Amino acid sequence: MDFKKLAQKYQTPLYIYDFDCISERFNSVKEAFRARKSLICYAVKANSNLSVLKHLISLGAGCDCVSAEEIKKALLAGAAKYKIIFSGVGKNDSEIEFALKENILMLNVESEAELKRVEKIAENLKITARISIRVNPDVDAKTHPYISTGLKKNKFGVDVDTAKKLYIYCKSSPFLEPVGIHCHIGSQILDIAPYRDATMVTADLLRNLRALEIDIKFFDVGGGLGIRYKDEVTIESYDFAQAVLANLSGTDVTIACELGRFLVGNSGYLLTKVLYEKYNGAKRFVIVDAAMNDLIRPSLYNAYHEIEAVDKNRDGDLADVVGPICESGDFLAKEVVLPPLENGDLLVVKSTGAYGFSMSSNYNSRLRAAEVAIENGKERLIRRREEFEDLVRLEREYLEGANEENR
Ligand SMILES: *Cc1c(COP(=O)(O)O)cnc(C)c1O
Repeated sequence: MDFKKLAQKYQTPLYIYDFDCISERFNSVKEAFRARKSLICYAVKANSNLSVLKHLISLGAGCDCVSAEEIKKALLAGAAKYKIIFSGVGKNDSEIEFALKENILMLNVESEAELKRVEKIAENLKITARISIRVNPDVDAKTHPYISTGLKKNKFGVDVDTAKKLYIYCKSSPFLEPVGIHCHIGSQILDIAPYRDATMVTADLLRNLRALEIDIKFFDVGGGLGIRYKDEVTIESYDFAQAVLANLSGTDVTIACELGRFLVGNSGYLLTKVLYEKYNGAKRFVIVDAAMNDLIRPSLYNAYHEIEAVDKNRDGDLADVVGPICESGDFLAKEVVLPPLENGDLLVVKSTGAYGFSMSSNYNSRLRAAEVAIENGKERLIRRREEFEDLVRLEREYLEGANEENR
């Protein structure tokens, strides 16, 4: 990848996504579930750029959305309604109504209270809502506590007994049609055992429901497959599929999954320019033009991203790579080996395709980066760099109003 040319053409900080790498990941999962009917969904929140969505949709992906606006983005990018799932622990009334009116595949319901809201809204609309219940299987995904979701102490889903009760309730309601079972145990999972344990719990429930003549069509195993940021040993698509399928012999459910990070994480690069080097005592800092508003994962989760100097050798001295924001938590890496650097040198932060741009902000009134796609060796802009006008557009009119009142 010609980072120098890209920096000249599009300036920095710049997000770059390798679309061929995304295709490869998606196809590997699709292939792994080849023996069954499957709906491989993309968790939109990982990277919701419309062109990224369009690319995955063109490969056959469904979309797992966690807000009405994510559903709108998926539709705008060309997603089929019957391939859209709506997840999330706190859907509000207007979001539920929107999803029901759009007639998407199903809503993943996370509590009894939510189920009752969905029922009420479906009744008002005189329709039947297709739903699945998110089961919290109480297994430990052994990942970072902020991204673990499948334990009783987490806010997500309901326990198996409650789930069973809710399915039975659905059966008696003319406005609710249970079509799926859902479970998502966390993110950046590197160990296959939690998947096996979780699907054992939900497959058991599936059989129980069958016995009650509750016909579940979609077995949604969630997302969470981890990727390599440093030297992690990751789960192969094939092994993931096998762990899921092992518990499902004798059933003909469609397997659904909702992968985010696994599909897009390794495809992304954040390109940034060195502004200054400085030493505070013996401590070396490399100050760059990207910051925590562009990539918050290091600050938020203490996440590691490999950083490489473009066109330089790999050895050098330890340094913290920090951004211009007025926070000590504004760093992209701590104690990484980098060669001597000066103003204008380029650094590339790797594996930033997931939860990079999508978690970015305008903090410090910084303009958000541009995004570029590389496909078949060709690059194209998929989001222009923000301008000052974008930043003030929603505030400016009130400023003028206030001035008039003060006169
Ligand atoms: C975040 C999320 C995902 C995707 O997680 P990844 O770790 O990116 O695969 C899938 N399903 C639900 C319900 C989520 O909240």
